[in-house]
Amino acid sequence: MYCIFKVKGGNKTALIIVAILLVVAIAISILGPKQEETSDAAGSMGDFTLVIDPGHGGIDGGAVAADGTKESDINLAIALKLRALAEFYALENAMTRQDDSSRSGPERYSEHEDLVSRADFVNAAENPVLISIHQNCYPTGQPSGPQVLYAATESSESLGKLTHQNLIGSLYPGNRRVAEPASRKLYVLNHVSCPAILVECGFLSNLSDLAKLSDSSYQTTLSTVLMASYLQYRTGLTGT
Ligand SMILES: [Zn+2]
Repeated sequence: MYCIFKVKGGNKTALIIVAILLVVAIAISILGPKQEETSDAAGSMGDFTLVIDPGHGGIDGGAVAADGTKESDINLAIALKLRALAEFYALENAMTRQDDSSRSGPERYSEHEDLVSRADFVNAAENPVLISIHQNCYPTGQPSGPQVLYAATESSESLGKLTHQNLIGSLYPGNRRVAEPASRKLYVLNHVSCPAILVECGFLSNLSDLAKLSDSSYQTTLSTVLMASYLQYRTGLTGT
């Protein structure tokens, strides 16, 4: 049987990913299909909207790898796979962009306008949970692996630490990087009023990361871990 979740790293990695997928299955059995009727219960599972934010886009390609690969393209590819999973599981979702475009006005690009528009979009969603997708870059090629940053709320910290733990455990065992609070420079995470994280999936400046991040199967694996983390968070199956 063809396994789309095959990644390098041996049996331990495969087992961890299988474990995460089992959590997804459990979560889905709890969530069930999307209900048409509404519930009055606070925190009802049907009330959340997963807002997927592929960073950059249009004239703003974000970080650019030595081979010309643009961060904005990888962000979008992973985001579309995450949305496909959300659709498959009948989860409410929304994307800040669905193609290679910015949210700035059409006549003159403004980074600030783009970021303000993204934050406004998130805040307008019904009970949003934000996952912003980015790629890292560094002057040297050494750093590798994911890095999750979280907004300044307890719920964001919980989602951020959980997601980081899942990403490292599944894809980069042994990596000692930890989830961190977002700096004040990250506009969107500082201007939304919901659980919000920014996931730097890897380093475009690291050749091994770049090869993986450019690979469709690896992008699928990443999106699967992000979905599993979102569902773990929503169902309270946060582990330690
Ligand atoms: Zn970025």
